[in-house]
Amino acid sequence: MANQIPVVDYLVLDTAPHLRAHQCTSCDALFFDRRNACAHCGRTDFAQKALAATGTLRAYTQVHRAGPSVKVPYISAVVDLAGGGVVKANLLDAELSDIRPGLPVRLRTFVAGIDDDETEAVAFGFEIEDTQ
Ligand SMILES: [Zn+2]
Repeated sequence: MANQIPVVDYLVLDTAPHLRAHQCTSCDALFFDRRNACAHCGRTDFAQKALAATGTLRAYTQVHRAGPSVKVPYISAVVDLAGGGVVKANLLDAELSDIRPGLPVRLRTFVAGIDDDETEAVAFGFEIEDTQ
């Protein structure tokens, strides 16, 4: 298997890929970026928290304009993760006519690029969960 690196440091690539947040130990607020202090309560102690790979679609929009290397249109979404945490990511392989707020979604990783040493840069998005 090729070497892989996540495109963001809060994406954990293991047998069950998931997102990881910094959680304030005082008020449980979650942040993907490292903080010196909690933006909610001001305390300075954090723990790592593994977030669920499943959630529900809170909101979305179809994007028609982007940089020259970005294929459009794509669907940008806000996902409420099961058990806490909110993340913005693209909704993968979805048609605008098939989606609505509240749909169950699941995190999915994909290779976004490969460098000259064949190291894969791995990104994430969400797909509509098959509830059949
Ligand atoms: Zn806090």
